[in-house]
Order: sequence, then C-alpha cells, then structure tokens
Amino acid sequence: MYNEIVNYIKELFPEQTERVMLHNPCFNGNEKKYLNECIDSTYVSSVGPFVDRFEKEIAQYTGAKRAIVCVNGTNAIHLALMLAGVERGDEVLTQPLTFIATCNALSYCGAYPVFIDVDRDTMGLSPSKMEEWILQHAELKDDSLYNKATGRRIKACVPMHTFGHPVHLDELVELCKKYHLELIEDAAESIGSLYKGRHTGTFGRIGCLSFNGNKTITTGGGGMLLFNDEKLADLAKHISTQAKVPHPWDFVHDAIGYNYRMPNINAALGCAQLEELPTFLKKKRELAALYKTFFDKTGIEFFADSAETESNYWLNAIVLKDRNERDEFLEYSNSHGVMTRPIWRLMNKLPMFEHCECGDLTNAEYFEDRVVNIPSSVRL
Ligand SMILES: *Cc1c(COP(=O)(O)O)cnc(C)c1O
Repeated sequence: MYNEIVNYIKELFPEQTERVMLHNPCFNGNEKKYLNECIDSTYVSSVGPFVDRFEKEIAQYTGAKRAIVCVNGTNAIHLALMLAGVERGDEVLTQPLTFIATCNALSYCGAYPVFIDVDRDTMGLSPSKMEEWILQHAELKDDSLYNKATGRRIKACVPMHTFGHPVHLDELVELCKKYHLELIEDAAESIGSLYKGRHTGTFGRIGCLSFNGNKTITTGGGGMLLFNDEKLADLAKHISTQAKVPHPWDFVHDAIGYNYRMPNINAALGCAQLEELPTFLKKKRELAALYKTFFDKTGIEFFADSAETESNYWLNAIVLKDRNERDEFLEYSNSHGVMTRPIWRLMNKLPMFEHCECGDLTNAEYFEDRVVNIPSSVRL
C-alpha cells in the first residue's frame, strides 16, 4: 500500500522528478519585478515603500486594523508576548504539539509554558482541556489568574493553528475573557485560514504570522503582527525599531528596543507573494480535496478541516494506525523519492521544557505517534 501512496504523490507533482519535496516556495508573479524595483531604489533596508505597502495590504487582507512587520515569526511572537505584558516568572498556557518557536519566544520573556492538550478535531489548543486544567490548578485573585502550586501568575494563552487548521476560537476567546488571560494567536502557519469567515490571528489581542521559506507565502524570512488596537500597533513599531523617537536627524531612544523590523527587500518579495496568495490557497485546497478522496479509498485518515473553518492546508497530514506504521511509512516514502516527515516531538519531551507543567496530554500523544506530513507545495 505504501508504494500506491508514493506513486500517487509522484503523479500529483510530475515536475519534481528527483524527489517530491514537502513544501517548495512558488515565484510565478511579480517577485523579480518588485525586487529589481527595490534594488534600483537603493532602499533595501528597514525603511521603504514596500514595507509600508506590505503592512497595509496584510491588514486589508486579514481584516486586522493594523499589521506591523517583523524580521521573522519567532520574534513576532516574542514581541507580541512582551506587548501583552508577559513578564519574567509568568506562566503561559499553550499546546505541546507545536513548532519550537512558540515555546522559545515565551522563554525569551522569562516565562514558563504550561502544556495543555489539543483537540482531536483541530490538532490545536483545546478549550475544554484548558478549562479543566484551570479549574483544578488555578485561581483568580485580584483580576489575575494564579497557578495554585507554583504561585506564579498565568498571564497569557497562546494557541497555534496547526498546519493551518483553526482552533476553536469562540470558546478560547470566551475562556480568556473569563480568566483574564491575554490571547496571543500563533497564526504562523495559517495565513488565509478562516474561522467562521474571519481570518485567524485577528481574534486575540495580537496575532503572529510567519513568512519563512516553507510557509504558504514567503519573504525569505519574515513575520507580521496583527492588531485591532492602534496604540498597541504603534508601540510595536516603536519597540521593533530600537525604540527610536522619530526625529529628522537626532538619535534619541526612550526604551530598550529591538532591531526586529523587516527590511524593504523582503517586503518587496512579500508584496508579490501576497498577490499570488488567492491562487495558492485555491490550489492548496484543491490538492487537499484530491488527497482526501484518495486516502478515503485506502482507509487512512486524511486530516481535514471542519464545517466552521476554512483551512489553508499549509501542510497536508495523514493519521496512521500507530507509531510503527508511522515509522514504516516515513522510512518507505523518504527512501522512494517522496519527502515526508513526522509531526513535531511534543515540547514537554524536549530537554528545555521537560520540567514544565502539563495537563492531560492524551490527544497530543495520539497525534505525535501517528501524524505524518505529506508533500503540499502549490501545484504548477
Ligand atoms: C514557522 C513558525 C513560527 C515562526 O517561524 P519563523 O521561522 O521564525 O518565521 C512560529 N510558530 C510556528 C507554529 C511556526 O510553524
């Protein structure tokens, strides 16, 4: 059966003759034109018209009031947590089934993750598991939530929309209100993904996007913060530009800032990629539908989105029978010209985070043993 799957995938990507990759970037639009314009203008660094344009267009596209560029998605999350008031010694509720960047970013703030399980239908942070954990382990005191065992303040909640599949946002928004938690969405994988018609990353206080080379659209490296709060967006821009007070010639800084702003040359690439996004999304959803039909026939679960969401299907995923079957398939496909890879090792199993607090992680462990990503590039 593995050879049937591998052959089918090769048929889907006939142009990738050597090896079918997991996710290739696609540059068929104005990328070279805008890059040339950018170089000709000499404005290749952190100030320039493409940066402003990229921010405006992403805000328009996502429906966020404002968007602020970052050098990458990881520092977008770092900045978001700082702006939301996450401080040294705080705890942050997040999922163990995520890319390392989520947990690294909160570690930069000196905060500790508390790992809450994911839902079986979204692969993302589970509102019901989160409330279950809060009711057992936390208490509200003076408008803040505290962990009863550690005494630490629990300041924020960071869900991640795994492979582009939105989490149950209505329920999470409600819980965060109820327990005074700042909601920061790690929407690094979900540009173009909608929850009840609204773009992911716009439900919490701040949303974070990534434009790494393997994401749905790329700026080489890059990230973006999404805001509904103008003042917070202004502060993000200030802090990410070394906290330099605007002045025609003088260098005055009024806080500890960061050099986190995306250069114009990356934004030029981003503007061109954003024009292509609707086509990419259409093709990615078409590919997912083909996979779904194919895997339904083989009896293997293809992970699909629900009626209330529209996933970008950044990376397609199948759920195999057990860890054994997972490893057999990984071995077979990777040695027969089709790149596949397992879902991430759970964060609580990595040496940096193995001492962190965890709720019941039944679903995360289920997915860790079974999920494999299969080739997901935009088909030419
Ligand atoms: C890609 C990604 C990020 C950010 O990555 P960068 O490479 O720093 O842009 C953050 N979180 C998740 C879940 C991601 O997949």
